[in-house]
Amino acid sequence: MINHHPNRTQLNQFVEGTLPPAVSLIISAHADMCPKCRHDIEILQAEMSKKMLSEDSLSNHCDFGNMMNDIMELPSLDKQIKVESVVEKTLELDGKYFKLPRALHRFSDRTSGWSHLVGKLWQTQVDIGGDLKAHFIYMEKGGQVPEHTHRGNEYTLVIDGEFSDGLGTYDTGDLMLMNQHKHSPRADTDEGCLVFSLLDQPLHFTSGLARMLNPFSHLFFK
Ligand SMILES: [Zn+2]
Repeated sequence: MINHHPNRTQLNQFVEGTLPPAVSLIISAHADMCPKCRHDIEILQAEMSKKMLSEDSLSNHCDFGNMMNDIMELPSLDKQIKVESVVEKTLELDGKYFKLPRALHRFSDRTSGWSHLVGKLWQTQVDIGGDLKAHFIYMEKGGQVPEHTHRGNEYTLVIDGEFSDGLGTYDTGDLMLMNQHKHSPRADTDEGCLVFSLLDQPLHFTSGLARMLNPFSHLFFK
């Protein structure tokens, strides 16, 4: 069950189109998996359209034709969902196939190839353009990312399975923003856990052993 959603400010900025493209992408991927946020986004889009119309009725200076074009160009989640039901894209790792949310379909073949890391972890970088680094990370059962904190922001979307990190447990579809928190993600279920992760700064490992594995940091931030 999904318990972690983008906050209200992030959803507003998503609808306004003012978020960095990578953050919009991960929120869009979450919305593909989350009926609640799809519903909230539709309501915010409708409110924004209404606001634009009423602002226009107060001002005769606005170009009505352009404004209508803008409204028509707002992304329609309904249409996107119909497309998703026809096309399915998966990510393959070692004979396991993971269904990707619609927003990530176009990146399924833009990965660098899986690397097997220490601690039952696999990761592949995803070329999404822009400044943020994107990875798919798969934790096998018992796999654990060494304890780290963040100098910047880390967005994590659970694509398949669940993991916990000492702060909480996160299920398929959950989207988390971590910044100052110190945590150590770990998968304990048989099926393991696949996440999509965005970073704007390298992870900063904090535990004694992980510090000695410092090059590890670069594996997450090439
Ligand atoms: Zn949600």
